[in-house]
Formats: sequence, structure tokens, C-alpha cells
Amino acid sequence: MAQILVYLEHNNGQIKKTSLELLTAAKKSGLDFCAAALGKGAKELASTASAYGAKELLTSTADVFNTYNSEAYTQWFGQVIKAKKPQILLATANLTGKDLFPRVAGRVNGGVATDCTSLELSASSVKVRRPVYSAKASVEVEFQNCDVKIILMRPNALEIKNETSAASPATVSEVALEPIDLKTIVKDVVKGASSKVDLTEASIIVSGGRGMKGPENFKLLEDLASVLGASVGASRAVVDAGWVGHDMQVGQTGKTVSPNLYIACGISGAIQHLAGMSSSKVIVAINKDKDAPIFQKATYGIVGDALEILPLLTEEFKKLLH
Ligand SMILES: Cc1cc2nc3c(=O)[nH]c(=O)nc-3n(C[C@H](O)[C@H](O)[C@H](O)COP(=O)(O)OP(=O)(O)OC[C@H]3O[C@@H](n4cnc5c(N)ncnc54)[C@H](O)[C@@H]3O)c2cc1C
Repeated sequence: MAQILVYLEHNNGQIKKTSLELLTAAKKSGLDFCAAALGKGAKELASTASAYGAKELLTSTADVFNTYNSEAYTQWFGQVIKAKKPQILLATANLTGKDLFPRVAGRVNGGVATDCTSLELSASSVKVRRPVYSAKASVEVEFQNCDVKIILMRPNALEIKNETSAASPATVSEVALEPIDLKTIVKDVVKGASSKVDLTEASIIVSGGRGMKGPENFKLLEDLASVLGASVGASRAVVDAGWVGHDMQVGQTGKTVSPNLYIACGISGAIQHLAGMSSSKVIVAINKDKDAPIFQKATYGIVGDALEILPLLTEEFKKLLH
């Protein structure tokens, strides 16, 4: 059996960028690997998985998998791991991954390293690192006494190498869910108003804080975000004030994000905010106060009024990008 199992997430057959990051890492390791994908459209991922060198795509397209159900998904992965015995499982440290894989680990004597930001895989070793203490330090995690090493990678932590042609196509194997008495079923999914990529997976985020002065000025952030193809985030202060929804909150009690570019506008840089975004690759801060703590973390800083600077940035990026 393949040494690595890679969990691929998708939207109706459209593979997510974070899953391409995992496939790139699996291919780079030189180890044998197969992939798993569930729900409507999952089989369409076979060609992408093959292009990266996956030998097999394990799937079930039963209706119960069309929306995430922790009981059904846990049962299915438990079954697959017991049957196929991979030594390593790679998945994304998003809400689904963090909910699902600790449950799976409990069934298969797995060890879980979550929120990892670096990964080195080879035939002889598995090295993962993850941030601790609000990203002030990082630790290396070692697995001991477990049958499967479950590694959940933060989105955008790994590079993507695009692969388009397969040496040989992956076998698609349908694995039926053993009958279980589901205690909960998902009846309906109500999507939020935003059509943008979820913050945890976005590669560019434009975020606003109390310095934006009011909810009406979030339009300036949305304008810049739409030119950059970014998602819009916020500090807790503005979420608590009711300017935007909690799904946009970045930080200790909000979402942990690690985009390639994080633009913080009118955000002071409190430790609880930094806890959620300091692993961003490039941080740009716009703040009126030159001593704001955010500038200590920022790669580039602009001291000035965000309400004046944002429209100028949007215009410049429009010219550059279109
Ligand atoms: C247990 C706990 C959990 C928390 N969890 C979170 C969390 O998950 N996420 C989070 O964000 N916070 C969290 N907080 C709150 C956190 O401590 C801060 O209060 C919050 O992050 C401040 O938000 P802010 O930066 O928008 O506002 P402020 O701290 O008020 O900062 C506003 C900034 O805007 C600047 N400014 C003002 N006007 C302008 C302008 N026109 N142009 C440019 N800059 C301007 C100011 O100089 C200032 O630096 C938590 C707090 C606690 C106690």
C-alpha cells in the first residue's frame, strides 16, 4: 500500500488550491502515495491526482458525502486507513481538517500534528514544525507510538508546482461506507453572503480595523480586494462593534490565516490579532500612528490615513494589473 494518503478537498470536482499544495509535497517526497476525495464530483479529481503521481484515488460519491458530516467522514476514513494502512496522512488544517482528523486518529491509533507550517518528508524521516505562543516561537513535532502520522498543513504554507500530464492514470476505487447509524445528518447548507475564498485559504487578505472609522468605509477594502483577487478580513474590535460578521474575524478568537500577502488597515496590532496572522508571508500595515505595534511585524509600513491611502492603492493596482 502507498505510504502516504492525501486528502483532496474540492468544490463539485474543482480541486482546492490547498490540496494542490499537499499533492506537490507528496510528489516531492518521492514516496508512494494515493489520494482520497469524497462527494459529488470527487472522481473528477483523478486526472489531477494522477498528474502528481498518485497511484489510486479512493472515493465514495454517496449522497451523505456531498456536505461535510463528521460522523460519516470519520467512519469512512477510519475504514480506509485500517484497510490501506498508510503511514502518513496529509490534509489541510482548515475547519474540516481540524474537526475530522482528531476523530479519525482516535479510531486508528493516529498521532495528529495540526497547524503545521513546514514539512519535510522522506523515506527515512518526517519533520514537521508548527508555530506556538501566538507564533512567537515554533516547535518541531515528532510522532511516537502511532500507526499513522496525521499531518494537517496550514493553507499557503507549501509551494505548488503545477503538473499537467500523468505517466499512468490513477485507479479510481469506490469505497462504500459500512452501514452506520448516523446520529446527525446535514439537511441544508446556508452560505454566507461573501462569494470570496474563505479567509483561511485566501492567498491575499485585505483586513480592516477600528481605524476604518465605520462599516461604510469597508467598501474601500472591498474595492482593493476585488482588484487584487483578495478576501476581506477584520479585527475583533470591528466585529464586536457589529460592522462586519464574525466569519471575517482574524485572530486568537477568530480565524488563523497565513496568506502570501496581508494588508492591515487601521489595525493596531494587538497580540490577539497578531496570533491569527503573523505567519503571513508579507505584511503591509497602514496606520496613522507611527508607533502602532503592527509596524513591528510588518514587512512594509505606510504611516497615514487608510481612508485616503486605500483608494490610491486601488487605482495604482488597477493600472498595474489590468
Ligand atoms: C481574550 C481576547 C481575545 C481576543 N481575540 C481577538 C481576535 O481574535 N482578533 C482581534 O483582532 N482582536 C482580538 N482581541 C481584541 C484585541 O485585544 C484588540 O482589542 C483588537 O484587536 C483591536 O482592534 P483594532 O486594531 O481594530 O482597534 P484599535 O486597537 O482601536 O486600533 C485601531 C488602530 O487604527 C489606527 N487608526 C485610527 N484611525 C486611522 C486611520 N484613519 N487610518 C489608519 N489608521 C488609523 C490607530 O492608530 C490604531 O492603531 C481579543 C481580546 C481578548 C481579551
